[in-house]
Amino acid sequence: MLGLRKFPYPYQAMLAISSDADHETLRKFNLIHQFLNTTKMTPMGRGLGLDVADSFFMYNASNLPGAIDYDGTPIHGELSYFRGTSGEVLDGRIIDRYIHCGWMDTMHTYGDFSMRDPRQTMFRRTLAAQALATLRAHHDFVTVWTDHGNPSNVDNFGSYGVRRFFRYQQGANPNSPYYHTDLLIPYGVRFVWSDQQSDVFGHDSMLYPIRLPDGRRVWGFWRYTILGYTRHHRSEWVWSVDHLSQQLSLANLRSIERRHQYAILAQHLCADNEVRPLPENGISALRMLAHEYRSGRILVARTSRLLTYNLVQRCLRYYVTQENGLAVIHVTEVADPVFGTRPATLADLRGVTFYTTDPARTQIRIWNVPLADSLLARNPSDGYAPSIMVKWYPEDHRDYSGWT
Ligand SMILES: [Zn+2]
Repeated sequence: MLGLRKFPYPYQAMLAISSDADHETLRKFNLIHQFLNTTKMTPMGRGLGLDVADSFFMYNASNLPGAIDYDGTPIHGELSYFRGTSGEVLDGRIIDRYIHCGWMDTMHTYGDFSMRDPRQTMFRRTLAAQALATLRAHHDFVTVWTDHGNPSNVDNFGSYGVRRFFRYQQGANPNSPYYHTDLLIPYGVRFVWSDQQSDVFGHDSMLYPIRLPDGRRVWGFWRYTILGYTRHHRSEWVWSVDHLSQQLSLANLRSIERRHQYAILAQHLCADNEVRPLPENGISALRMLAHEYRSGRILVARTSRLLTYNLVQRCLRYYVTQENGLAVIHVTEVADPVFGTRPATLADLRGVTFYTTDPARTQIRIWNVPLADSLLARNPSDGYAPSIMVKWYPEDHRDYSGWT
């Protein structure tokens, strides 16, 4: 046994597209995910069969002007679990389904609270409590949170204290009426993008620990949002779908392959109000990404899976014994330095790859319980050594939008 491989065999790198629910209409969402996730013919061409999950809002209190789809749909037509800031279900049943099937895995905060006057807000702690109770009741378990929008979105958190601008982030302040992380973290959110821009495409690890103002801890993660800064210190944002081709440049993809890195793209896949919501150069870039995936170079994974893999790969505990000429790898715990050490589960082990001189004579167990052979793969040398792995999740190309 020669140690853990960095990425699931045979991949050299791992990439997720983390898309914010801004201007998400059901029409755009369905078209985009039919194209990304299935292998059907779609209006944007043959589907790519990639594992890309999106984000969702529970509420919609935005009063920003302008249309959010080609037919002039106004902002109150944005996809939202509840109607407005009420407890009346609007798109909740559809969002439940997309969370269960894996087309959604990220809370883009509790809702779209962006207002024309950023000093105003409709967010209340009671809305957080209702949202989390509802998600729980429908078995909607979500581990990823991304901050959203302007300072009206006082439920944002994770960057309070970083600089003056972030003082609007009241979500983790126990003295604020907008405090909610005492509800959110116990519900199960583990990974937070805290409204921090970044011009770094590839990372050795996406994760960094955050201590919140209420003393709780959570994992922060990076997203690639800007190309860099202009001479006048302005951010060059590339997180709109019109910039997808700049994010997914061949140079960027090659660089994470060469350096064995992770990348998470911040995106707004629903940003365009066109009949075909993805632009032509974005579609071409996605096809190139799909090619890197099919060639075994970049594992494209939904954000929650990438982050869980990243965490486990860094802090998995195991020991090796010899039994009758077999090398037995006993996986025991995930020694998570933020949330504490816990027993390893099958979901933790997806993709975990151990180098070994003789895969045929190597076994993997959780403590002392052997994993079914159907869950394991034994791989030839990748240039360094042969390996044994717990298989990555099976591909799922089903069209979950077909449900009526
Ligand atoms: Zn947003």
